[in-house]
Amino acid sequence: MITHAQALETLKTAATQRRPGFARGPETVAIENCVGRVLFSDIVSPEAIPPFDNSSMDGFAVLASLTTKATLREPLHLEVSGSIAAGDAPITQSAPAIAADAWEIMTGAPIPTGYDAVVKVEDVEVKRDKQGAPQEIWISKPLTARENFRGRGEDFALGQSVARAGTRLMPEHVMALASLGLHQVAVRRKPRVALVSTGSELVAHTQKQLAPGMIRNSTAPHLIAALPSYGVECRFYGTVSDEPRVFDRLLAEILADKPDVILTTGAVSAGKYDFIPDSLKKAGATTRFHQVAIRPGKPGLFCEFENGPVVFGIPGNPVSTAVALRFFVSPYLEALTGSAVEVPLKAQLVKSAPKPEKLRCFFKAQFRAGPQGAEVLCLGGQPSFMVSPLLESNAWVVFPEGGTRVEQGTWVDVFPLHPMNYSFGSDSFASSAPKQEGCC
Ligand code: AMP
Ligand code: MG
Repeated sequence: MITHAQALETLKTAATQRRPGFARGPETVAIENCVGRVLFSDIVSPEAIPPFDNSSMDGFAVLASLTTKATLREPLHLEVSGSIAAGDAPITQSAPAIAADAWEIMTGAPIPTGYDAVVKVEDVEVKRDKQGAPQEIWISKPLTARENFRGRGEDFALGQSVARAGTRLMPEHVMALASLGLHQVAVRRKPRVALVSTGSELVAHTQKQLAPGMIRNSTAPHLIAALPSYGVECRFYGTVSDEPRVFDRLLAEILADKPDVILTTGAVSAGKYDFIPDSLKKAGATTRFHQVAIRPGKPGLFCEFENGPVVFGIPGNPVSTAVALRFFVSPYLEALTGSAVEVPLKAQLVKSAPKPEKLRCFFKAQFRAGPQGAEVLCLGGQPSFMVSPLLESNAWVVFPEGGTRVEQGTWVDVFPLHPMNYSFGSDSFASSAPKQEGCC
């Protein structure tokens, strides 16, 4: 039996081999539809954004150097030459008129040429005419150059890197791309996942009355609902009984459709009706691992078809299925699509918890920010048939293979219930740090 770490290496190898074929040819999508997709190539800024110097406040555009001696006692007095609103064309003045006066200016309006700061309307005394238009102002404290000033290209400089190939796109990318006028984006095609449930005891979840001995198929709807958020297209091929010949026929049909990944649930353990390993072998797949030292999900199987899909034979218990998706299928998809590899969070265990020796455990847990930092509570109800504790959890706590108990206060690995492996397009926070200090 291999360890989870060894299984991950095997998955990575299989995915890396398939990556060149998989990554060929991008798909172009409208940016409104790109969230969750993986960027095909680097994007650099085709424009400077903001496209022109503009005001971040409602107030008056002035030349900061004139204000250095302004005090409450001796305020600087300036005439107001006019008013500029957002959407107005920029005012261009020529020397020597430049900046000897002030312009009323609204947020987002272009700063008149030669001016370098904006004093907020709340910070000046204003004399207005009968219509309310400002005529003169008094400024009572100095301004610094570029105060309340948004410079051209300060957000995105022309040619600046916006996002790197492999980034999983978020709504925030949509905002950036829209401001840059990039209304379409090239993304990697979505991996195609074929799903089959096995189990003679299974009926559709839509079935109201259960005949004796039957249960509803809960994991197919779960996977169908969850897989799109992993950036894949999922097709459900139905539920088959524990009759290998039925599955064999369906497998041939699935292979003809050329999916990237096949997921089967159930029938991979050592029971009399656990036919999946043999059926796959008969169909020509090579088994890479069968049984992993984990709980839940120990009977898990992984096979490869040469020049064809990989197959995850996932154990049927619902929580084993969720763990297989999170800790086997998801890392495989990361490696296949070249997106950022998810790393665990670290948290202190709130209460000691038992575990089986020699198995890495993925247990339902509650993660929270405590006064001393991140904390995690391993919940009761860990058996893999028990779905109800999942509804109380927001994370998976990971216990290492060694030992039969993890003590309170131990720092352990934690993964949020759903992946958060968004890529910032760089390896460090430093290179994506804000460009300047400040609040507005
Ligand atoms: P198996 O892996 O086929 O031995 O199934 C293990 C347990 O999971 C059995 O109790 C099955 O009834 C249950 N099970 C298998 N498939 C599903 C499914 N799709 N939905 C809910 N329970 C399932
Ligand atoms: Mg079964």
